[in-house]
Amino acid sequence: MAEQIRTRFAPSPTGALHMGGARTALFNYLFAKQQKGVFVLRIEDTDKERSKKEWEEDILEHLSWLGLDWDEGPGKEGKYGPYRQSERTELYKKYLLQLLEQKQAYYCFCKPEDLEAQRQDQMSRGEAPRYLGTCRNLSQEEQETRLKAGESAVIRFMVPAKKVSFQDLVRGTVEFDAGLAGDMVVAKDLNTPLYNFTVVVDDHEMNITHVIRGEDHIPNTPKQILLQEALGLPRLAYGHLPLLLGPDRTKLSKRHGDHSVAQFMQEGYLPEAIINFLALLGWNPGTERETFSLTELAREFSLERVQKGGAIFNVSRLDWLNGWYIRQKSTEEVAELCAPYLVDAGLLGEKEIDIQKLAKIVALYRERLKKLSEIVELVDFFFVEKLSYDKDLLLWKDATREEIRSALKKAEDIVRAIEEKDWNEENITKLLMPEAEKEKNRGYMLWPFRVALCGKKASAGPFEIATVLGKQKTISRVQEAEQLLI
Ligand code: GLU
Repeated sequence: MAEQIRTRFAPSPTGALHMGGARTALFNYLFAKQQKGVFVLRIEDTDKERSKKEWEEDILEHLSWLGLDWDEGPGKEGKYGPYRQSERTELYKKYLLQLLEQKQAYYCFCKPEDLEAQRQDQMSRGEAPRYLGTCRNLSQEEQETRLKAGESAVIRFMVPAKKVSFQDLVRGTVEFDAGLAGDMVVAKDLNTPLYNFTVVVDDHEMNITHVIRGEDHIPNTPKQILLQEALGLPRLAYGHLPLLLGPDRTKLSKRHGDHSVAQFMQEGYLPEAIINFLALLGWNPGTERETFSLTELAREFSLERVQKGGAIFNVSRLDWLNGWYIRQKSTEEVAELCAPYLVDAGLLGEKEIDIQKLAKIVALYRERLKKLSEIVELVDFFFVEKLSYDKDLLLWKDATREEIRSALKKAEDIVRAIEEKDWNEENITKLLMPEAEKEKNRGYMLWPFRVALCGKKASAGPFEIATVLGKQKTISRVQEAEQLLI
């Protein structure tokens, strides 16, 4: 039987889940699902100072929100758990002791200030910083004596001076001289292993077959391969995903804004739009098709179609996709999704949510909505008692105030004559339109009428708005506008 594919997403909980991390998670998820494999979530919290429980929670919450459910990981214990590195110290210790016993690692007593001075010296001579191997040849006895005397030490791996090459699933052959920086620190002490070491142990112990991660990890891969070789562990398959770039084509970073998934969620992007967008950041389907659900992606995805060059994070593409996904939903669904934004903005009380009513309002804007948060500015006028806007907004072209006021008065009289039971868009249009056509231009009546109802330069059409506002509110708003023009 072919070996089962196992991928992993291994975030460090030192910050919120950002779009780059979510893209890595997605590609691992897709590759695993497509191959009927297993997607593992591992929390890399060995850095005790920087790791925070709240960030772990943020990561779990937003992965779930995106629909990237892990098969094994926190909350889904499988046979390779625990899935938090902070709970696996004993295991790392075992492997550290193995390296020390094999004499492929040693205690290094060099003082940080001496190492820093060496580094400065090397750099001032234009050389790449490298550990000089001062403690490499200390005898076993000397190491033990100094440890017993309480001297502080770290554990260094004797990095073999050789080139390492590997077949990257995205980039082809990658070759690196791993020994350039000298022997590397793999642990601060037996109970405090560092990233490159824990990853090697865990990827092996968790039976991971494919490591798919960001291109920024390429320099770590040769180090991890050398550690595997020293520990006698099999090599894994590696695929490094292209960098995400900002619009200025530099590496996407805080400078380009907040790219946490939480932020996009708050702004009202839908998880299906984000997933679709992330999939296209580095992968192309080989066709013109632009919209894919998670299930469709799992079917279509292939690492061969992942590009090497950086992928530009183009928010307008995300906006377009989000608008598309919003339009795929029923107006009731969109109303449900928009309601919390209106509550947050104080326009609607939690208990006043009436989805049927809201759906009528939302229907006017569903076509143009790019993200849910925009709904507040678009529809706030439906919820406030009194509008406040600049009265000059009521003026149309060269019309005088008096002309506008009388056009509004006419409109008021017409709508007043419509009976409540006949209050619908068709009737309002049928009665107002011919009257508006009588003016020099129908804008003379319809523009101020619309502004009177919503107080905005741009909005849905006046008849639609009047229909949803209802007769009484329509009349009182038109009267208020007339007052403003006196
Ligand atoms: N924990 C690492 C990070 O957050 C990722 C490790 C890996 O994918 O190998 O960047």
